[in-house]
Amino acid sequence: MTKRVYNFYAGPATLPLKVLEQAKEEFLDFADTGMSVLEISHRSKQWDKAMSEATNLVRELMNVSDEYKILWLGGGASTQFYMTPLNLQVKGKPMEYVNTGGWSTKAIKEAEHFGEVKVIASSEADKFTYIPEDVKFSEDIAFAHITSNNTLYGTEWGYTPSVPKDVPLVCDMSSNIMDKPINVSDYGVIYAGAQKNLGPAGVTLVIVREDLLDRVPQHAPTMMKWKTHAEKDSMFNTPPVFPIYICKLSLEYLKEIGGTKEMEKRNLEKAKILYDVIDGSDGFYKGHARLGSRSLMNVTFTMATPELEQKCVEGGTARGLVGLKGHRSVGGMRASIYNAMPLEGVKKLAEYLNEFKDENQ
Ligand SMILES: *Cc1c(COP(=O)(O)O)cnc(C)c1O
Repeated sequence: MTKRVYNFYAGPATLPLKVLEQAKEEFLDFADTGMSVLEISHRSKQWDKAMSEATNLVRELMNVSDEYKILWLGGGASTQFYMTPLNLQVKGKPMEYVNTGGWSTKAIKEAEHFGEVKVIASSEADKFTYIPEDVKFSEDIAFAHITSNNTLYGTEWGYTPSVPKDVPLVCDMSSNIMDKPINVSDYGVIYAGAQKNLGPAGVTLVIVREDLLDRVPQHAPTMMKWKTHAEKDSMFNTPPVFPIYICKLSLEYLKEIGGTKEMEKRNLEKAKILYDVIDGSDGFYKGHARLGSRSLMNVTFTMATPELEQKCVEGGTARGLVGLKGHRSVGGMRASIYNAMPLEGVKKLAEYLNEFKDENQ
């Protein structure tokens, strides 16, 4: 086998080795069809089975009730930035957003094409270092929108904000979906690009409460309506077959290890190791996110100078710890430790960071 490194990139991101091996094994002959999953018709019964399994796994692992539809769509989470306001708009009612980072900012910009947007809380003035507390959405709005984990800045919501009755809460969970158990019934819509916690790039999971599907204006383009995809079980057109297949394998793996509860336990353990290194470094490493807002998924930190950070990134790469450079808009360093990052990788990184500090302080 070729040498594998520990991949700390923010997305696309590391996948469970077991999933990659299984995909490799089945690559030329999927479900005894004599064809690759890349070649098989999406109307075949073998594909139909795989796709229902993927959907059922989402339902089971997130405990999604029958009130919700589960969709597998192309276009990335960024497409949901405009599909959300398109599908949920209500004439005369504003849309309320909380701005906690780069992705929220982009979502807000898209919503502005559809009507009045109110940003009711934002941590922008403080470089997105925290999640606003006690966020309260107004009555009589079309919907409320949050981003549960902020990939660039390394912050994560520690609570679910309450919304007035009849106001659907929409959440972009692209970078922390299934990192812990959540209560899906708190949300009207959940969406997540697959490439951080679920699978490869190319598919976006959308979980939408069925009663919300009828709000979309009649004249909206067919492919842009959630309803179109809900009515055809995401087979209105050719779905992104290969990414969905990999998601299915990784969901099977998540189920096998004990689901989101076990995942949360592992994620807490992994994150604590790195935050302990930062907090125990006498200021050599400075965490970007405030205590109480720290992400389980993206650990962001800085050092005294960009030169030192660059040296640390390069030293990591030389040891097979890759992807540690922070996002260009934030700078510094970032270790993305999504569900599929093994504990072993985090321990190796902690060891390296401690050594680097000793040699360079
Ligand atoms: C990565 C990311 C996105 C963008 O996803 P695409 O699939 O590339 O469009 C959106 N939101 C969050 C929170 C992300 O982490």
